[in-house]
Amino acid sequence: MPAHTRSQFARTLLATPPSTAIRISSPSALERFVLRANAESHVGLAVEELEIGFANSVSFAGETLRRCLQLVPNVADVILDLPPRTPSNILQHVTFPHLQLFKTNLPHYTLLDFLEAHVSLKLLILGSCGSPGECAFASLSHVDHIVDLEGPSQCISHFMGTRLVRLTAHLSYDWYSKFATRSLPLSIHLVVLSMEFLPDDFQVLNSISQTAPSLRKLKLMENGIPMRRGSSSRRVWNDFKGWAMSLRKLRLLEELIVVTPAKLVRHSGDVLEEKELLGRWLTGRRNHPGSPSDSYLYHVGLWYGSQDLGESIISNWYKVGVTWARSVHNGQPHPASLT
Ligand SMILES: [Zn+2]
Repeated sequence: MPAHTRSQFARTLLATPPSTAIRISSPSALERFVLRANAESHVGLAVEELEIGFANSVSFAGETLRRCLQLVPNVADVILDLPPRTPSNILQHVTFPHLQLFKTNLPHYTLLDFLEAHVSLKLLILGSCGSPGECAFASLSHVDHIVDLEGPSQCISHFMGTRLVRLTAHLSYDWYSKFATRSLPLSIHLVVLSMEFLPDDFQVLNSISQTAPSLRKLKLMENGIPMRRGSSSRRVWNDFKGWAMSLRKLRLLEELIVVTPAKLVRHSGDVLEEKELLGRWLTGRRNHPGSPSDSYLYHVGLWYGSQDLGESIISNWYKVGVTWARSVHNGQPHPASLT
């Protein structure tokens, strides 16, 4: 029965369990939530997932945001997508004892104390650095609790050598270097890596094999940034001997996905040409369809451009016995970028 009076409306509210997932998409919605949670503490205490997203808003009250964060101490998942001028101390005196996932676009220098203090945090997704010079994470310590990380290459490199198991590394457009993996310390725990690389980064796979020798799943995404002047049309995956040698160093690798806007084979989608390419990647030799017998690799995914067909090709190859067979093959509308 619909509520007609204020007392009936109040009774209806009391009968409705407070939501465990809250999404706030404007400063006014933030103020409404804070007003209600201030008046009824169980509303804030019930929240386990909080998403605040109004990055395009010009202004909002920082104190209201901090109050909101203080009213939801039981959250496990927090997403904060905030305007550029968000006060840098917004996370001060904010504690989430059960925090598991934290995704934010806040500048990295505002996150140091928060990340070190929240030892329950497992999954961290970061936006751009926010600092023109060296990332503040250079002085980071005590972050062994974070096992799954996504963010710009040059910033998340400071987490390597910890207990990271899964890593997704994006190239920064303001950090125009191809040496994304060169200076990374050894990360023996890393088993899943997704990484963007530049077209002329010929050492990317070799660097990865030295940095993360325990990888089981690797996704390499060639970034669509235009080739720099003076670069050749040679690609890392054209260097068959080097590519095969690096793959062999990744002894535990089970799955490899390669994404590129370039054509991988002469006739896009041709099964024989793809198989020949695969054989050369795995052995470094021509006309060799197999892979080393001690290899755990059983799946190779290819997502590549096709100028002749005007679409992208997605092919999935699986090891069957000692040879390889293509099980899934799709032509997809060519996206502007494959990353
Ligand atoms: Zn940074």
